[in-house]
Amino acid sequence: MKVSSSLVAYSFRHIPPLKQRSIRYFSHQGLRRMVRSPCTVLVATSTSSSALLKSSCFTGNSLFRRMERYWAASSVNKNKGMVEHLQRYGIINSKKVAEVMEAVDRALFVPDGSPAYEDSPMQIGFNATISAPHMHATCLQLLEKNLQSGMHALDVGSGTGYLTACFALMVGPQGRAIGVDHIPELVAMSIKNVEKSAAAQLLKDGSLALHVGDGREGWAEFAPYDAIHVGAAAPEIPQPLIDQLKPGGRLVIPVGNIFQELKVVDKKEDGSVSVRSETSVRYVPLTSREAQLRGY
Ligand code: SAH
Repeated sequence: MKVSSSLVAYSFRHIPPLKQRSIRYFSHQGLRRMVRSPCTVLVATSTSSSALLKSSCFTGNSLFRRMERYWAASSVNKNKGMVEHLQRYGIINSKKVAEVMEAVDRALFVPDGSPAYEDSPMQIGFNATISAPHMHATCLQLLEKNLQSGMHALDVGSGTGYLTACFALMVGPQGRAIGVDHIPELVAMSIKNVEKSAAAQLLKDGSLALHVGDGREGWAEFAPYDAIHVGAAAPEIPQPLIDQLKPGGRLVIPVGNIFQELKVVDKKEDGSVSVRSETSVRYVPLTSREAQLRGY
């Protein structure tokens, strides 16, 4: 698989730096709450945690020093450590989401040699990325009520299959978790990933399936869906996805081009729809296969 070693900063929560300074992008919701200064734009790139700490703006005062020590000591190189880290910083506050993210080992879904447990998006080839763990956690929590046992979930732009596997564990064997991606190689890779994961049996039994298709059309076969997640930014919300949402259902989708917002779309029982913005984000575009592969 052709994967460049440099990081593409996509599928993460985006907060513009408060001051012009040479720091790498990353924002951490929990830390933002704790530290209110221009230094709150933290670093989580493909560099190791220690390099990250050395190069970060954590320097002088004792609060920062204590946080530095805490961060250096925490076990971010293990899946459980990654989840605990997200819990401690207030990103994950749902027990169910923590359990599912602990069960689905992120290392099975990232390219070999990638720092699997860093809170950062990573390239997976084909101009696509696996989203950062804090983004996966955020989306799982936004959709949790619509991922109960027996419910139907659709993951558009399923990429590595990580989130589809999480959905499948949440809706269980009586439910349906459908992933759709328009790059056949990624779908084939995602099936291999899931086969090694805690969701393997659900794939075997058919309650989890990964398909090649244009996700802008949704996946009519198992509609209507209680939960729809889109892992790529659309210029506007595709109508077929709203149509395939069950009354009471929820769609979570990044919308925009350069400036993107994570939108939460709720369909009420009477069929009317409400839309709100959750946060600013950066995702790869939801587009045609040709446009995505241009220059790849
Ligand atoms: N959520 C996934 C992948 C995110 S990257 C993960 O975390 O692993 C976005 C994905 O959307 C890519 O895999 C890309 O191939 C896919 N994509 C973009 N446009 C699409 C479209 N029109 N239909 C289906 N998939 C699309």
